[in-house]
Amino acid sequence: MAKPDIVILDKFLKTLEIQKSLRLPAVLALGLFMYIGLSSSQEIFGIPKHPIFFGCLVIIPSIIIFHYFNWRCPACSKYLGRINPQLHKCPHCTVILQDKSTLHQPEDK
Ligand SMILES: [Zn+2]
Repeated sequence: MAKPDIVILDKFLKTLEIQKSLRLPAVLALGLFMYIGLSSSQEIFGIPKHPIFFGCLVIIPSIIIFHYFNWRCPACSKYLGRINPQLHKCPHCTVILQDKSTLHQPEDK
C-alpha cells in the first residue's frame, strides 16, 4: 500500500480549513439575502436594505467562484465535487488526501 504524501496531506488540510472558514459567511450572506427578499421593510437593522442586498449579490457568487477554484485536489488540480470533510482519496487520481487514522477523531489538544 502506498504511503500518503505529507505535502499532499498538508495542502489538502489547508484547503479543507479554508472551505470550513467559508461556511459561516456563506450561510450569513444567504440568510440575509433571503430575509431581504421576504421582508417588506426598507431597512434591516437600521440600514437601508439595498446596499446589503447588492453586497449579498457580490459576496454569494464570490464565495461560489472561490469554492470552485479552491476545492481541488492538490495533486491533479481537478474539482473534488461536493464538500466532504471525510473525503479520503481524490475521486480522479486516487491520491490519498487524508490519513484514515485522523478521520472520525476529535482534534488533538
Ligand atoms: Zn486528484
